[in-house]
Amino acid sequence: MTTKPMNPSGKLPLRWGGEAARIAVIPGDGIGKEVTPESVKVLRAVAARAKRPLEFVEFDWGADKYLKEGLSLPAGAVEMLRDEFDAILFGALGDPRVPSNQHAADILLGLRFKLDLYVNARPVELLHERLTPLRDRTENDIRFMVFRENTEGLYVGVGGFFKKGTADEIAMQEDVNSRKGVERIIRYAYDYARQNGLKRVCMSDKSNAMTFAHDLWQRVFKEVRQEYPKIESRHLYIDTLAMEMVRDPSQFDVIVTCNLFGDIVSDLGAQLAGGLGLAPSGNIHPGRTSLFEPVHGSAPNIAGKRIANPFGSVLASAMMLDFLGWKEEGQVLREGVKAALRESFVTPDLGGVKQTVEVGDWLASYVERA
Ligand code: ATP
Repeated sequence: MTTKPMNPSGKLPLRWGGEAARIAVIPGDGIGKEVTPESVKVLRAVAARAKRPLEFVEFDWGADKYLKEGLSLPAGAVEMLRDEFDAILFGALGDPRVPSNQHAADILLGLRFKLDLYVNARPVELLHERLTPLRDRTENDIRFMVFRENTEGLYVGVGGFFKKGTADEIAMQEDVNSRKGVERIIRYAYDYARQNGLKRVCMSDKSNAMTFAHDLWQRVFKEVRQEYPKIESRHLYIDTLAMEMVRDPSQFDVIVTCNLFGDIVSDLGAQLAGGLGLAPSGNIHPGRTSLFEPVHGSAPNIAGKRIANPFGSVLASAMMLDFLGWKEEGQVLREGVKAALRESFVTPDLGGVKQTVEVGDWLASYVERA
């Protein structure tokens, strides 16, 4: 394996935005193993069309390996991904044979925390108006980004039990918010808005109830917004945000919020835009190896039936191409998904009759023709 130059400054390695890119592929479990190969197929077509090399190396980390060898994330894996790959294409983790989901926590949370992937980017984009459950809404009304803080908050695992298993039991879970962590995600949201010509950023918290943790969010937001005078800044409490997203989603361009709230509102957003099968996400640290995945999980109820919708994974691949600087190619993938929706060349979850592989083949040939 060739080794990517170390990148302590956080700057992009030289080959980014240009020549080859190395992608680590982790299909994982369940339908992750069905949708990820379709994305790789489509990405190969993209690379051939662009005459630029994309190299893929697959890793079999997931429930099978965990059950057979007791191994989730192998020693040295994080460093190897960080140093030798530009991006990670991830499927899904979760398996009924591992009820604790320990392997999933080790692998996915391990990568998010150890690679310091502090941005969870979840685009909410309606690709065809028949897909939204909202009445009288079109593609122009539902198009915004949710940026969820991805390395802190209630997900850090600080807490404990007292008198566990008794009638007097107490359970505590701490919400951890650092000045650095809050500032970098808010700043990322503004930078994204500026770079993409978007006019509005909404920060959402619950500072009226969480008077310490979200007081910090308020103070940082007030400071950072001053640096972006051309962008309209707005604050909404998280309960109001949820209501407003349903009442009038057209009022949002960029939403930025904490880890837990981001988890919830981005799923709400996914439903506004057609459901889990279509929703992509990126776990990003600008300038470093970042991870792209569909929002859905391993869906054991449909795994192996060949009907999983590959669009979430393909749209996550489009985000990965944007991240690598292959913007035009990312756009081709999105256009391909839109074309498949227009022609109803879709899996049963979207009302179609096609199989996962058929949809992947269709997209690959769309890319070749585009
Ligand atoms: P996990 O435990 O890994 O999160 P899950 O089944 O609890 O799995 P998801 O996989 O996120 O959660 O999906 C919930 C349901 O949505 C699935 O059971 C499935 O019916 C449907 N679903 C999710 N993703 C897809 C997809 N890509 N194609 C078709 N249906 C999907």
